[in-house]
Amino acid sequence: MGWKTDKEQYKQNMGRRALSLCCPFEDCKDHERSGKGNIVFIRKYGEGNTQNLFKCKTCGRTFSERRGTPLFNCKLSEEKVYQIVKCITEGNGVRATARIVVWTKTPLDL
Ligand SMILES: [Zn+2]
Repeated sequence: MGWKTDKEQYKQNMGRRALSLCCPFEDCKDHERSGKGNIVFIRKYGEGNTQNLFKCKTCGRTFSERRGTPLFNCKLSEEKVYQIVKCITEGNGVRATARIVVWTKTPLDL
């Protein structure tokens, strides 16, 4: 065993992840600004990789990690969402993206 417990290691990882998140509340003055250090990790609330609870120090509210990302309430797999985001950011329209990303069961509902 190392000098750090798994829990401490996890907390540290989440601390780093917090830097890539932004406050999801639209009335917060740091809404959609990431890397400001205003987001802190609170705790894990489920088994999923993104089921972590974070808090915005600017407005004092807590939110789940999924809420701070496009994955919140999203039924698509993370892999598929990643493909979609990549296609769109590279200049493809929604239709082109739908053609590029191969759909297995659910059609793209945009
Ligand atoms: Zn906030």
